[in-house]
Amino acid sequence: MTERFNGSFTQQDPIPEVGIDAALAVLRHGRLHRYNTAPDETSETALLEQEFAAYVGSQYCLAVASGGYAMATALRALDVQPGDKVLSNAFTLAPVPGAISSVGAVPVFVGVTPDLTIDLDDLEAKAGQAKVLLLSHMRGHICDMDRLMAICDAAGIAVVEDCAHTMGATWNGVPSGRFGVIGCYSCQTYKHVNSGEGGFIVTDDPHLAAKSVMLSGSYMLFERHLAAPPKEAFDDIKYHTPNISGRMDNLRAAILRPQVADLAAQCARWNERYYALEDGLRGTPGLTLIERPPQEVIVGSSIQFLLLDWAASAVQDVIARCGARGVELKWFGAPEPVAFTSRYDSWRYAPSEPMAASDRVLAGIVDMRVPLTFSLDDCHLIARIIRSEVSAVYQVAT
Ligand SMILES: *Cc1c(COP(=O)(O)O)cnc(C)c1O
Repeated sequence: MTERFNGSFTQQDPIPEVGIDAALAVLRHGRLHRYNTAPDETSETALLEQEFAAYVGSQYCLAVASGGYAMATALRALDVQPGDKVLSNAFTLAPVPGAISSVGAVPVFVGVTPDLTIDLDDLEAKAGQAKVLLLSHMRGHICDMDRLMAICDAAGIAVVEDCAHTMGATWNGVPSGRFGVIGCYSCQTYKHVNSGEGGFIVTDDPHLAAKSVMLSGSYMLFERHLAAPPKEAFDDIKYHTPNISGRMDNLRAAILRPQVADLAAQCARWNERYYALEDGLRGTPGLTLIERPPQEVIVGSSIQFLLLDWAASAVQDVIARCGARGVELKWFGAPEPVAFTSRYDSWRYAPSEPMAASDRVLAGIVDMRVPLTFSLDDCHLIARIIRSEVSAVYQVAT
């Protein structure tokens, strides 16, 4: 009998009941705007920022409208100007180069290694071209952060981390988002906490924090924050920083607070599923797993493997055969992007030269979401299906 998986790859956990109750309380009193508070009331948004700052161990935290907004705000806070170049990953998601483009700057793409991390040799070679690196920990893969920071420090490059896929992950015990001068996170439905849309900016730098708060649309109400710098930090900037409205609201913050409190437990659940899948795929002929370095504590909310140097038609065959058995795989190497764009040559508003070594990797990346609604048995079944289809196609192809 041919096994089939019947679950959904896009169904996330429901919002925790305490979050639903907190959301209903906000709806009942109606004060959704973060600065609309009753006397002696602290807004859900301000509390959320304080709790997220404590979670990652940062001085400051600002909650905003999206992860993309967080990244653009970080670039503005760093005074990136129209025409400036900003280094970023050749393999990431569209909002990353989009954030660079939104401030009129120009992405300079840095290659991807077979470990799916940024190519640090390529970064070193291109370091002279820009003063800022928008580093994407794409699909949760964290590069050698010690070497990356050494390269950037030596070249005077400010690092902004895109932690959309690494909220909860660490490198050498340090949370992702705490290496660079600013860390950015997303609270969008497919990330590690879910308020539909939303994002965070964290930093220890009072000037960058104050600028981010003003940019997000604080008006002169910045003293209502609990995770912003003292009002003196705003003295020099409050009349010189434009309001580029992108605030978080109390409804989403109410939904997020219990999820942040629960994040460590949820990350452990993701990793049980990830490692069950990885175990089931290990040793499949023709399939290369991405081995994770010991310094990295991951959050396995998605899994990738390589069908390295496979013919495009054979990869397409695997995707179709797995799809027919209910296993939704995404191939980043397809000549026409499907549903999302994730590679540098898809963003044609940004000039780039072909990168042969990266192209070889990109052509082989297969990706799968791991929602927490999967059981461990689901993961074992999915791995069996992928293993059998990859093996079948590989045998015919070789
Ligand atoms: C989702 C995502 C973002 C930003 O997400 P928003 O949808 O703007 O919240 C940034 N980087 C990566 C790699 C992402 O996947």
